[in-house]
Amino acid sequence: MTVADASQRPERVLITGILGQDGAYLARHLLDRGHQVVGLGRRLDDASRRWRLRHLGVDHAIEPVELDLDQVRDPATELVPWCQAARIDRIVHLAAQSSVARSLVEPLLTADSVGLGAVRLLEAARLMGGVPLVLASSAEILDVTGQTRLDECTPLAARSPYGAAKAFAHLMARVYRNSLATPVSSAILFNHESPLRGPEFVTAKIVREMVRIRRELSAGLSKPPPLQLGRLGVLRDWSHARDIVDGLWRIAGQPEAGEYLLASGRLHSVRDFVDATANRLDLPLHWEGEGLDEVGRCARTGVVRVRVDARFYRPDDPDQLPVDLRRTIGALGWQPTVSLEPLIAEMCDLELLRPLN
Ligand code: NDP
Repeated sequence: MTVADASQRPERVLITGILGQDGAYLARHLLDRGHQVVGLGRRLDDASRRWRLRHLGVDHAIEPVELDLDQVRDPATELVPWCQAARIDRIVHLAAQSSVARSLVEPLLTADSVGLGAVRLLEAARLMGGVPLVLASSAEILDVTGQTRLDECTPLAARSPYGAAKAFAHLMARVYRNSLATPVSSAILFNHESPLRGPEFVTAKIVREMVRIRRELSAGLSKPPPLQLGRLGVLRDWSHARDIVDGLWRIAGQPEAGEYLLASGRLHSVRDFVDATANRLDLPLHWEGEGLDEVGRCARTGVVRVRVDARFYRPDDPDQLPVDLRRTIGALGWQPTVSLEPLIAEMCDLELLRPLN
């Protein structure tokens, strides 16, 4: 296998959060380029939890490390010895409680997992003499109020425990980079999706529910229960996770550690996402009403397929803004390659193959 990327040298890379969406895609990306992957996760012996690694054909190519980062109290004795024994050249820290919605009901767990979890890895990297580390930061740390575009200079703010914990991790990464001689980069990630997205996220829910409706119609049910969502007009910047892990690895290959935004640079509403999913499944919709009263009806029969549910409606959830990717593209030579329709097609195609529960 050839080594074809920025570093041009085979490395042993520790990926935390190996069982998650990005962990699996990054592992595939690195193994394809001749690197070796040490994958950290919890309950790794449960085969059902390794479904993403199996889907990408990398389950047996990873050196597993079983560890719950929330339990680590002393990186010097609990992380450094085995990292050194495993000859880790580089760390990509992805492990985190990654749901904004869950953070609203479990703020303590989120603060520990997202905030202190990052510091545990940063401290281990420092204690090992400055092992390079890339941190998965988030667009949820950016203050969108009063802005027209987002870039590396956008001020920080948070609207959820998840955003606040990511902002803390992001600032700690700056401290380690600027004051503690540790080469730490932060990747400010906007939403990214794939067929391997966790079922709790809205894009996975849209695809799953529209496929259910498709199946129920095919089975002869004339009025399947509609898909229920929050505010349909909210704007998001969605990429494919494959593009994002490519960006992460290019950040790792930069000569100087720093901060980079990774986004598609395109905004779409949740309504656009539903429409594209419905079209892919030959369920064309037309939209009526506004706000809580908006519905998506079957364009052929008028039957309601999509409804707004007050339980999911967050009127104060701000739209994302256009992202200025000039610095990212210039420095990394990175470009997003997958637009929304092919991303949704890939998500629908895998969902259609999933057996019914
Ligand atoms: P996932 O939720 O799919 O994966 C996160 C992984 O972290 C899970 O496998 C989870 O395992 C693991 N994890 C959580 N807590 C711990 C812990 N204490 N010890 C060990 N492992 C743990 O997220 P993504 O792959 O989508 O995201 C990767 C990173 O990028 C995350 O940090 C996320 O916050 C960030 N990000 C993602 C965005 C996106 O749109 N996907 C956008 C912006 C940022 P378990 O199942 O055991 O909980």
